[in-house]
Amino acid sequence: MAHVLVTGGTGFLASHTIAQLLAAGHTVTTTVRSLARRSDVERMLGVAGAPRTDTVSYVEADLTADRGWDRAVAGADHLLHIASPFPGAGPKHEDEVIVPARDGTLRVLRAARDAGVRRTVLTSSFAAVGYGHGPTDRTFTEDDWTRTDGPGVSAYVKSKAVAERAAWDFVEGEGGGMELTVVNPVGIFGPVLGPDYSASIRVVHAMLTGGMRSAPPIWTNTVDVRDAADLHLRAMTAPGAAGQRYLALAGEPLSFHDIALALRERLGEVAAEAPTGTAPAWLLRLLAATVRPALRETVPQLGVVRRASNAKARKELDWSPRSNEDAVVATAESLVRLGLLSG
Ligand code: NAP
Repeated sequence: MAHVLVTGGTGFLASHTIAQLLAAGHTVTTTVRSLARRSDVERMLGVAGAPRTDTVSYVEADLTADRGWDRAVAGADHLLHIASPFPGAGPKHEDEVIVPARDGTLRVLRAARDAGVRRTVLTSSFAAVGYGHGPTDRTFTEDDWTRTDGPGVSAYVKSKAVAERAAWDFVEGEGGGMELTVVNPVGIFGPVLGPDYSASIRVVHAMLTGGMRSAPPIWTNTVDVRDAADLHLRAMTAPGAAGQRYLALAGEPLSFHDIALALRERLGEVAAEAPTGTAPAWLLRLLAATVRPALRETVPQLGVVRRASNAKARKELDWSPRSNEDAVVATAESLVRLGLLSG
């Protein structure tokens, strides 16, 4: 069994990952921006059914400052660097997300190298793989990289590509033998563990609460958070995973219309507010240009379908994810179970 540092324990993916590490018998330290959030993390681990939650150590550390990181990495065999800004809306300036993502990653990797961590698993994203290429019908793999100067690249997308590049460069040049493995998840769905859920959950929340009257013509790839966490654990220990990237996705892209359909079919009355029709792209473009500037970031995504392959993780790490539909339905069921549909 290993001692593992997980960054950003308050997060959706990190809390599920800690729960799985504890279930597998590992010991865990996690970082939080404020120790006041410790009880929130403990509550989420309880909802996930994790054992030995009282054994988790908490260290206060922020990606934008050096304080705390040396204490956090002390004694860790492995580092799962999951924390990164994941804003629901575009920032005023791209550096608000790029700088913490990139410099924070380097700060954490440096501390890990100095502490003798054997392997770091970095949570990157499909955002570092399949964006900025313009319209394409090919299937993206781990060999692809986002073109940060390409069309439709948001600040968040750029932050993930830039941070992942910086991590590979660091390990190659100054890593001192520390191994790096990268997981590149697509849109993460699956069960939420509490009210502070990730921005990716908002689509399902909006559909269930009448906040999305008709589905925009947007396609997304999905992965269940439990499968994404499981892939992190496999990436952490598989001998051949060092130096590799692994895309984490369930299967074929899903349209927002497909998501609404799956919710209606599987949840019945609970999903009565889910949209039945699709909004025309021209209308969304018009709204974005006039009365709904918040829609501007979605305009480049209208009608774009990005296919990707999960063959590498399946083959090399024996990974077997749940289906798209199971992931989005599990999100909806958890929002209902935890009484989170009113907010
Ligand atoms: P989340 O719930 O919003 O978690 C983000 C975590 O990062 C939180 O713990 C947050 O802490 C922490 N964080 C943000 N800025 C920080 C800073 N300056 N210093 C320290 N911690 C900071 O989102 P998530 O879905 O779990 O995302 C986890 C990882 O997966 C991220 O790297 C994200 O880019 C990646 N990812 C997510 C998706 C998705 O669809 N959700 C898809 C692909 C990749 P606070 O709680 O204090 O804000």
